[in-house]
Amino acid sequence: MTNLTSVNFHGIGDPGRSLEPGEAPYWLSREQFEYVLDQVAAMPDPAAVAITFDDGNLSDHDIALPALIDRGLHARFFVLTGRLGQTGSLHKKHLHNLQGAGMLIGSHGIDHVSWPTLNDAVLRQELETSRAQLEDICGRSITEAGIPFGRYDARVLRALRASGYTTAWSSDGGQWRQGTFLRPRTSLRGDMSPDEMQAVLSGHMPALRRLRRAVGMTRRRWTVTG
Ligand SMILES: [Zn+2]
Repeated sequence: MTNLTSVNFHGIGDPGRSLEPGEAPYWLSREQFEYVLDQVAAMPDPAAVAITFDDGNLSDHDIALPALIDRGLHARFFVLTGRLGQTGSLHKKHLHNLQGAGMLIGSHGIDHVSWPTLNDAVLRQELETSRAQLEDICGRSITEAGIPFGRYDARVLRALRASGYTTAWSSDGGQWRQGTFLRPRTSLRGDMSPDEMQAVLSGHMPALRRLRRAVGMTRRRWTVTG
């Protein structure tokens, strides 16, 4: 079986809204974003790299969608339903356009909160209400979730399955195989060099990045990784 890799984007270009603490490093320039897409499109099997977007920023539609279409690539968009229609975020009509172009829509929850910190009732609401709203807008079942900040535990995974999700995307980095419920992603950052981005795409994070990641484990709760 083929080892698959996944890269996760957040925002591209000008955010058009106030950013959350720790969010800025996860915004890429349009040039950086298009560089990554060009690398994926040039691979022998572009489908071996899953492309995902978290947070439902307007740049998903205005910048990412045409760039993906130009290169014949597909992607998944994990949307915060609590931000739908707000300045700098996707509107319902944008979800229709993304879906119409063959992109997959999934849930990132409602309010961009860390799921392990929620009690059972609020967690179920984050998972089920966001899913129901997206199903209402998209007119099809929503079965995939992008986990906010990459933070999860066994209870979160159980709740995802109980809420009808068949796939959940973490921010753990590394590779996975087709059919896996929990799929690791690597979030690209604006301070990554082209070589570092290339290494992520090839499934090999450079040593320095691995080291930073190991050191960063204890800081994860304060950093936005999804
Ligand atoms: Zn997020």
